[in-house]
Amino acid sequence: MGGKRSVNMAKKLPVMEHFYTLQGEGAYAGIAAYFVRLAGCEVGCHWCDVKESWTVSANQYMEIAEIVAVAKESGSKIVVITGGEPTMYNLAEITETFHLQGLRTHIETSGAYPFTGNFDWICLSPKKFLPPKPEYYSIAHELKIIVFNDSDFAWAEKHAELCGENCVLLLQAEWEKKAQMYPKIVAYIQQNPKWRMSVQTHKYLEIP
Ligand code: SF4
Repeated sequence: MGGKRSVNMAKKLPVMEHFYTLQGEGAYAGIAAYFVRLAGCEVGCHWCDVKESWTVSANQYMEIAEIVAVAKESGSKIVVITGGEPTMYNLAEITETFHLQGLRTHIETSGAYPFTGNFDWICLSPKKFLPPKPEYYSIAHELKIIVFNDSDFAWAEKHAELCGENCVLLLQAEWEKKAQMYPKIVAYIQQNPKWRMSVQTHKYLEIP
């Protein structure tokens, strides 16, 4: 951790990939957004669909100024910082730089590490293997629970109880379990309408 944060002092972050697309899932689904996927994750979800993001290599480090410049150049009004697990890094510098360029800053995080930076939209997606730090519940705009099995509905409620009253509550099936879990999600939301369904539309459309 110390090493990674000290690299940030040099105004660099490890980027696995960055691309302009539409947000595929969650409360902002369908909206154009520039994605910056930071490399590195120690959370270890067994169903993770971006396992290639877990490791960091020296040649992935980019200057924050360069990351912001390419995102700005795309014309996007929103940047989504995701991972990997982006909160492994201090995000104060990159969010400030994006704001100076007039972009909204969104984050998708498990909340496993202390919160840093200045984000306009915080999507908290807790994971069982490394739970969120307590500070995330009060600041999350969106709680996105990945439903892998039946017990995840009760697990989702435990997290929802901790969130603010305006937090958007989302249930999203794990991709490989979608045929099994979406009928259950639909039925659950009908019974518990404070929840909304989230679908990974980008995977159906085969866009990034
Ligand atoms: S937190 Fe995200 S990137 Fe990390 S293992 Fe879990 S799903 Fe994969």
